[in-house]
Amino acid sequence: MATINHHYGKLAAGYLFPEIARRTRAFQEANPGAEVMRLGIGNTTEPLTPTIVRGLQCGVEKLANAATYTGYGDEQGNQDLREALVARYSRYGVTLEADEFFVSDGAKPDSANIQSIFAIDNIVAVQDPAYPVYVDSNVIAGRTGEAKDGQYDGLVYMPCTEENGFIPAPPGEKVDLIYLCSPNNPTGAVATHEQLKAFVDYAIKHKAVIVFDAAYAAFISDPGLPRSIYEVEGAERCAIEINSFSKEAGFTGVRLGWTIVPKTTVCEGARPGDLNKLWFRRQTTMFNGASNIVQEGGLAVLSEAGQQECNGLIGYYMRNAQTIKVGLEKLGITTYGGTNAPYIWLKTPNGMSSWEFFDKLLNEAHVVGTPGSGFGPAGEGFFRLSAFGHAEDIERAVRSIQERLQL
Ligand SMILES: *Cc1c(COP(=O)(O)O)cnc(C)c1O
Repeated sequence: MATINHHYGKLAAGYLFPEIARRTRAFQEANPGAEVMRLGIGNTTEPLTPTIVRGLQCGVEKLANAATYTGYGDEQGNQDLREALVARYSRYGVTLEADEFFVSDGAKPDSANIQSIFAIDNIVAVQDPAYPVYVDSNVIAGRTGEAKDGQYDGLVYMPCTEENGFIPAPPGEKVDLIYLCSPNNPTGAVATHEQLKAFVDYAIKHKAVIVFDAAYAAFISDPGLPRSIYEVEGAERCAIEINSFSKEAGFTGVRLGWTIVPKTTVCEGARPGDLNKLWFRRQTTMFNGASNIVQEGGLAVLSEAGQQECNGLIGYYMRNAQTIKVGLEKLGITTYGGTNAPYIWLKTPNGMSSWEFFDKLLNEAHVVGTPGSGFGPAGEGFFRLSAFGHAEDIERAVRSIQERLQL
């Protein structure tokens, strides 16, 4: 008798984007002439750049030739790609070894899977609001009870509020696994060295492990802000870092990411090297490596020309972010984020709920965004706008907000 994993039944998320789509469809059916402008979803829009396209083509050509053909590659990812990643981190002043890197098909799967190397009774702490996969993967694994008022029993929530600048302090109680995302999706907040140091000190003291999602690190322009948690002293003893080519290079549909498990990272009952070996074991058992074509593309991203082109892409999206931020502030709306991250986190005017503002923005300005409450209860009263989009579409949407939104 097969039975299902009943933990799936606890999942509350998966509701956000379908509900946005449902309300948008209803609006379009009622207003067939209106053009709906989408600033909702964190998906890249600009084409791959020439150096990166050539890298991918080179990957295809290698497969077309008996002399250069390869099948399964190194399980952790191609050595040259991992060495190029080592070189990138050394530019941040971070020393890592190639066998501490695990190349993957993206940061979302790694963020979901990393929990499987930890025991089921680990207490998990997450930022509230948060990118949903940290919570949902632990729900499916069975580390939580049921959800009540948007929070799962057994999880520790760290509220991200205006008062703490959307970067929480470490929990007051003892937790074992801590998920942090900086630059943050959805709030656009970026943790400073001092803020990360507080988490590192906490983790070392409690033998906890930090899972640090740095998917937007390349969007940091302020040289004083850390792009990797390993820039913080002690993090190499307590942190796993996950990153991706998705947002930096427009690889959302191409699929390539990496996870770093330093051999120095330990936890209760694990000696140096044990966590690294466990993740190696997990990946070689359940995953057969990223596409060799795509890894050639990744190598091109990390080349000097590739990095220049990616900086151009990032500059383009960050100009969009400024267009949104400045445009809304002119209307007297309070905004956060949007300077070292491609998301604007706005405070809904007049104390409206996130969904009330969603309906108002759609009905009056014909613009679709993402209600902050969809990312966790502390997101209530906030709203996320994404800078990923063609500049002319963003400009049109901002003009429409300025002309039509009744405040
Ligand atoms: C987009 C995003 C990712 C990237 O995931 P991929 O699977 O690499 O595309 C990871 N974390 C956060 C917070 C994101 O917003």
